[in-house]
Amino acid sequence: MNSWLNIPADSDFSIHNLPFGIFSIGKNSPRVGVRIGDFVIDLEQLRKFGLLEVPRNIFNQTHLNAFINLGKKKTTAIRLELQEWLIQEKSPLKRYFNQAFYPIESVTMHLPVKVGDYTDFYSSLEHATNVGKMFRPDNPLVANWKHIPIAYHGRASSIVVSGTPIIRPKGQIKSADSPIPFFSPTKEMDFEVEIGAIVGKNSILGESISTEDAESYVFGLVLFNDWSARDIQRWEYQPLGPFLGKNFASSISPWVVTLEALEHFRTETPLQEPKPLPYLAFEGKKNFDIALDVHLSLPNNQSYIISRTNFKYMYWNLAQQIAHHTMNGCNLKIGDILASGTISGPMPNSNGCLLELTLGGKQPVMLDNGQQRGFLEDGDTLAIKGYCEKDGIRIGFGEVSGKIVASR
Ligand code: MN
Repeated sequence: MNSWLNIPADSDFSIHNLPFGIFSIGKNSPRVGVRIGDFVIDLEQLRKFGLLEVPRNIFNQTHLNAFINLGKKKTTAIRLELQEWLIQEKSPLKRYFNQAFYPIESVTMHLPVKVGDYTDFYSSLEHATNVGKMFRPDNPLVANWKHIPIAYHGRASSIVVSGTPIIRPKGQIKSADSPIPFFSPTKEMDFEVEIGAIVGKNSILGESISTEDAESYVFGLVLFNDWSARDIQRWEYQPLGPFLGKNFASSISPWVVTLEALEHFRTETPLQEPKPLPYLAFEGKKNFDIALDVHLSLPNNQSYIISRTNFKYMYWNLAQQIAHHTMNGCNLKIGDILASGTISGPMPNSNGCLLELTLGGKQPVMLDNGQQRGFLEDGDTLAIKGYCEKDGIRIGFGEVSGKIVASR
């Protein structure tokens, strides 16, 4: 598959990808766009020119929710039609190129979906084991972990798009040698490498979704950074779990990569032993091979890759997470985000957060300019990049990034 458009060979946004997002240009209101190479295609313009048959008030929206609500059959058909037009020499798109294609540098990207609810899982065996070891050296995994895809309900209001500055949160912190807490900006600002699934179909309250049907409820995936203040988290998390150490911000990448585009990159889920309960059984390849690189840029703009991990390591897959989430009758809604949980791999440099990479700050990451980081400092920018490569085909997510700014 080759396009008549010039697409850089190493682009995340090849002809095989075509993700959806919300962009604006100049004084125009936000609208639905598709990314191809270094261009954004304006779908509202294509509709006005009569190329795409969809009702009004689908593309000229501040979020993808109305578009997603058309259903996978329709949204997939639009994606495939665009793909066809980007390949064929006698393409109707060429006629409207100047009115519907914008260079990526000229647009502003927005949060792609209106997020109703957000759930954060804890599905990486390596992450749960590494973190568990710090608290319980003899018994890292709690008894339920290999039976339940553990999660907590997060906060949707503070999910922001990549590029949004992250204000260092303040809160209660208690040091080990003091009986009472003090109040301070966090001293342990961390990131978490995750993938977020955007729910693409409403489910019915009271009904469960099987692992077999689960993926039909997913519109696509984004990169997700679950920013975490470890000192605040450590003091508050018992007995009800994460709260203010997490909900001050989570960042997502602006382009939603569809599950259809990811089809080519399916892979096996790691062996699950003991066997989970029957409602969590599944067939086929349910994991995705998505390489995830973590880039730390210092205030002087020097940049370092501090971790390389992969979504394929996840112990619990998305289908199991959805089956578990709905097995009590809890319903999913379009635009909800289900985040994977921190993605750590088996190698020491494949840990998905600083808590693990530095053993809670005790062994700082050494950067080759003599600097080091136990946790993030003001002025640091943390970016996660995600991409898939196989058989000469490449697709990717671009990045999710955020710069830490001082507390207010
Ligand atoms: Mn998390």
